[in-house]
Amino acid sequence: MSSSAEILSQAFTLGYTYTRSTGPIVGKFLTALRDRKMVGIKASDGKVLMPPVEFDPVSAEALSEFVDVADSGVVKTWTWVSEPRKAHPSDKPFAWALIQLDGADTPMLHWVDAGDAEQMSTGMRVKVRWAAQTQGFISDINGFVPEATELSEDYQANNAEEPVTGIDSPSYLTYNFTAGEATARYLAQLKKGKLVGQRCPSCENVYIPPRGSCAACGVATTDEVELTNKATVESFTIVYIPIPNNPIKPPYVIANLVLDGANLSFLHLLSECKNEDVRIGMRVEAVWRPEEEWGYAMENIQYFKPIDEPDVAVEEIGKLKKGGR
Ligand SMILES: [Zn+2]
Repeated sequence: MSSSAEILSQAFTLGYTYTRSTGPIVGKFLTALRDRKMVGIKASDGKVLMPPVEFDPVSAEALSEFVDVADSGVVKTWTWVSEPRKAHPSDKPFAWALIQLDGADTPMLHWVDAGDAEQMSTGMRVKVRWAAQTQGFISDINGFVPEATELSEDYQANNAEEPVTGIDSPSYLTYNFTAGEATARYLAQLKKGKLVGQRCPSCENVYIPPRGSCAACGVATTDEVELTNKATVESFTIVYIPIPNNPIKPPYVIANLVLDGANLSFLHLLSECKNEDVRIGMRVEAVWRPEEEWGYAMENIQYFKPIDEPDVAVEEIGKLKKGGR
């Protein structure tokens, strides 16, 4: 087997979109935005808080008295963003600003489209630029602009009647994953349809996927071992809750599987059997996808299916030494 492999690297995105309940106060604020209106809330001392909050920041009293405020106001402070990032509201340079709307006593954070920083100043007057299509979200305010700016009011109709009670909150992290040598070698073999683990020269345990070293002995695992497609169920769980963007419909079985000759389990799908028949110690075998679909991924194996072999006793799972069964 080759002792070195191209080091693989790929962008990964970790994240999900969750639905956040707005509650009645923020819901009312967002519903008003959808109607291109601004509402604040009256605090215990009579001041108008914008955006509205559920509880008085001083007395902690629950607040409920909404107050209409203007859609123009004064920049209280600001900072210039000369190189916008992907998640920013504008792809051109812009200002983050605290803007106190007329009729409100507190400033709200939003962005100002002023063209360049020279046009920004503390105390300047700005007004809302509404999005052409509103949906009950903070981005219904498509930024603020200097008050003298002419705006088109070419708005699309919004026939929504139900108040806003929830919003989608995306939470994503995209990063670059570099496999490192052990994983790159493992993935390169996987692309050829082979399951290749690594053996610890000290304790002789075989690890798949290999991490490049033995966690127990702390030594490098350079010795490669090709394993079979057969495995034993070490533990499993039946998934009943749908996972967003996952094409597999629940209920389905995810199992920790130990390949014959290996001493470390990995997670994979179990199929071609009734969920209720799955048990610890059950013998299974990999079902590979068609060769033309193979890539550098464990998804080359579509799932594992049961095979007609006697169960392995719990205390024996993952304890098989080299040579296998
Ligand atoms: Zn070891």
